[in-house]
Order: sequence, then C-alpha cells, then structure tokens
Amino acid sequence: MDKSEVKAIVDRNIKPMMALLGVQHWKINVLYEPCTNPNWVASCARNIAYQKATITIDPSRADSEEDVIDSLRHELIHVLLAPFDAYRGIMTSHLTQGDTLDRIEDEAWEVAIENTVLAVERIFDWGLVNPLFYHLRHCFLSLICYPSKFL
Ligand SMILES: [Zn+2]
Repeated sequence: MDKSEVKAIVDRNIKPMMALLGVQHWKINVLYEPCTNPNWVASCARNIAYQKATITIDPSRADSEEDVIDSLRHELIHVLLAPFDAYRGIMTSHLTQGDTLDRIEDEAWEVAIENTVLAVERIFDWGLVNPLFYHLRHCFLSLICYPSKFL
C-alpha cells in the first residue's frame, strides 16, 4: 500500500483504538518503514518507564485497510501488555546475549507474549464484544417487537 494511505488509516483509528485498550495515556510514535524483520508487517518497541512506544508499519507489506488495522491492534495490545516487558527486563538482566539460556528465554518469551496478544485479539473477535452485541441486539429487538413491555 501507499505510505500516505497507510498513515491516513492509522491517523483515523489509533486514538479510538488506544482508548478502547486503555492505553490512551501512552505517547506512541508511528513510523512507516520496513521492520527489523523483513517478514513483519509491523513491530512495536516499548519503554514502560516513560510509557512511550514506537510502532513501525511497513506499508509495502500491508495489503488492505483491514491488514493495517489488524496490525495496529496487534501492536497496541503489545503496549497494553508492556508491564510484562518490565518483568522480562529484570529476569533477563543476568543473561549474556546470545548464549543458550538467553536463546531459550527468547523463544519462551515469544511463544508466551504472542499467544497472550492472540488471546486478547480473540476477546475482541469472539469474546466479550460479541455477547454484548447479542445482548444489545436482543434488547433492541425486544423493544421493537414488544414495546408495551417497556412503556
Ligand atoms: Zn506480536
């Protein structure tokens, strides 16, 4: 996608998405360039101490508006889960980068954090949002079909 098109999608959606996730107090900078891993559409670097994050989105890897929004949501969930970064930072501070324990920890971290992000994504896709929608739909239909019950 074109960089300006991706930026426009992000500009339209990032503030309400941050509010929905309860991370609106974070200062988030968005870059539109390739990620450190060329296979990624987006990535996110977080600084929990200052509640600042940088989200990088690679416009050349985004195929659609849905792709941009899904990637933005994924990275914002990483911001939501940033307290785990602080825990990890302390727990890995004694490891030597690249040694066996460091590599094992890195693999375990990736599985744990990405599955946690996925679990939160599923809450939005399948969980709390949908029952609320069905409840509101039921109330609306009850009001339309049986207005005398509410008057
Ligand atoms: Zn992720």
